[in-house]
Amino acid sequence: MSAYRSHFIDRLGEDELGQNLKVAGWVGRIRDLGGITFIDLRDGRGTVQVVVDPARVSGASDLRMEYCVSVEGVLRLRPEGTENPDLATGSYEVEAQSLQVLSRAAPLPFMIDDRSHSEEQVRLRHRYLDLRRPRMAANLRARSKGISAIRRTLDQLGFLDVETPTLVNSTPEGARDFLVPSRLQPGHFYALPQSPQLFKQLLMVAGVERYYQIARCYRDEDTRADRQVEFTQLDLEGSFWEREDVFSTIEQVMAAVVRDLRGTELPLPLPRITYQESLARYGTDKPDLRFGMEIADLSGAFAETGFRGFAGVLESGGAVRGINIGNRNFSRARLDGLVEQTKQLGAAGLVWVVVKESAGWRSPVAKFLQSSEIAQVNHRLGAQSGDVLLLVADQATLASAVLGAFRLELGRPDRHDEIRFVWVVDFPVFETTDQGDLVPSHHPFTAPVSVQEMRHTPEKAVAQAYDLVLNGSELGSGSVRIHDPETQRTVFEILGISDEEAQSRFGWFLEALGYGTPPHAGFAVGIDRLVAILQNETSIREVIPFPKTQAGSDPMTTAPTRVADIQLEELGLDINAETKAALSQDDDPDSSHPKSE
Ligand code: ASP
Repeated sequence: MSAYRSHFIDRLGEDELGQNLKVAGWVGRIRDLGGITFIDLRDGRGTVQVVVDPARVSGASDLRMEYCVSVEGVLRLRPEGTENPDLATGSYEVEAQSLQVLSRAAPLPFMIDDRSHSEEQVRLRHRYLDLRRPRMAANLRARSKGISAIRRTLDQLGFLDVETPTLVNSTPEGARDFLVPSRLQPGHFYALPQSPQLFKQLLMVAGVERYYQIARCYRDEDTRADRQVEFTQLDLEGSFWEREDVFSTIEQVMAAVVRDLRGTELPLPLPRITYQESLARYGTDKPDLRFGMEIADLSGAFAETGFRGFAGVLESGGAVRGINIGNRNFSRARLDGLVEQTKQLGAAGLVWVVVKESAGWRSPVAKFLQSSEIAQVNHRLGAQSGDVLLLVADQATLASAVLGAFRLELGRPDRHDEIRFVWVVDFPVFETTDQGDLVPSHHPFTAPVSVQEMRHTPEKAVAQAYDLVLNGSELGSGSVRIHDPETQRTVFEILGISDEEAQSRFGWFLEALGYGTPPHAGFAVGIDRLVAILQNETSIREVIPFPKTQAGSDPMTTAPTRVADIQLEELGLDINAETKAALSQDDDPDSSHPKSE
């Protein structure tokens, strides 16, 4: 295969027994047992035990962890009883005949194995070592496999992989842009794309009927646990398409990825739920369908109630909603803790109930309720003796949101093997901000179900927009697009974007829409999150080769860094006095070291 190796380690098996072969990789654990040295040798794909007899092979005593070596030897079965069932090659070992050190390694900042838990800061500082760990190497392989399944599927379906620029104008996803100053036109800036949204729509105008791209996107958002300022999307778009065309394409892509990464068949079509139903039954637009514990509306059971706590809420248009969290044996203190938590979540209060053997209730409110009310709630929630029921009376969406939070906290399964996709459909066109402004709930290029309805009651209008959710995480979103300039102008108008502003920001795009634009629709899937979930990783950083920390910096290269004054001058830029003052405070002789976060 090469001068250094004849076999990759994961290829060693039955057929290679007794063969003279060469393996190359890095030295893991070294054990010296009665004059014989055992080495775990790891390459990019696997680990195998190498046995070195120092009497016959020189060099073993000089070895240190992570030395890069090539070993020539014979594959043999390990003596009975010494097999390692945790290792794919655990029944074999290589009996070394010669050993060549290809390069030495300095003392390590952390152990290269899956058992050690080093601080992320340290891992990222030496990401090249971190990526040698089997788990990280497997994540990289899975990512590559996933992307190749995506490409294969879309290539077969006749999609064109088209690149779009990364130095662009401000784009419309609603986050803050990363700006890049132009040297050739001082005082002017490019933005890095938040997504290729407008370019992919232009490709539809251009007659590219099926487009996709594994696209890098940039959003200058504040720190959030599972977000990166730079991330990767599968971006796609199709002409003469409606929602169903998007769904069937994305479903085929997801099935291929799941098949290649998990070895299982994804049952298609994927289930669907409307946005409103999802909010009511799960308290969120990202429902985790791996478990039940659905929220029920109990308002009907209390329509005539004499209990003021509920009656008052119902009279003012609110709702009583509840979940059954099952047989829990919670202490009184634990139950009171849930009441406290409810208040922190912004609702007025929580009623807890423990169902007695008689089907009656142990609850602070039991004495105010009729037995018929109790019976109806028991029935709606499928209550059994010992079950704990949680009831919230408040404005309907808030009541569901609180119960949705408890549902996740108390019900989310520990098992990791299950994958449950769901489409969430019929999102609203707009959302209302705390200040009372309308903003797009997806982006402003999303088609409403009815233009008429959008004109008259924009805050209620339903969009042809949808999300794909996996195990309670939003995996992607998309929509049918507006394809006529008139409707597009109406949306800008409702958003309070004046004609002049629309013209100056999106004039080029509105003009393009005027040249026979086909109806089109599309979608984007977050690849980092998809791979993370399928690899059972809780953080997307574990599947991104070189991620940033939560503060958006790279402890290895120390990006972002300051630049020389001359570079700023060339760009016609200056750092303002306030920032300069803050920088000089930070200045220490060691400023090339990563900032602490
Ligand atoms: N551009 C959108 C996003 O990045 C996806 C889409 O509508 O296709 O979320």
